[in-house]
Amino acid sequence: MRRLATAPNLAIATLWADMLTQAGFDTTVQRAFASSIAGEIPPDQSCPEIWVMDDERLDAARNLLDQLRDQPSRRWACASCHEVIDGPFEQCWNCGANMPAT
Ligand SMILES: [Zn+2]
Repeated sequence: MRRLATAPNLAIATLWADMLTQAGFDTTVQRAFASSIAGEIPPDQSCPEIWVMDDERLDAARNLLDQLRDQPSRRWACASCHEVIDGPFEQCWNCGANMPAT
């Protein structure tokens, strides 16, 4: 098992892990609940991490993640809860509603 990336927050970590899983990579999110003990550990160690179970697929997973990160960011407002969503998300992280069709 190898560490692939550190995500800035759990919503993004979960999004990346879901995308990698859908692409056939066996991934896991670590330290997902570390924010509850933030303050007891350095901030740069409290972010969630994406780990790839299969060491030999780390490079392929990293390539895919780079592509995900390169997507142009979008900004849209959730129709259900009016949360403003930034980034390559197609689902509201607040309530889970899908991005409205454009
Ligand atoms: Zn919403």
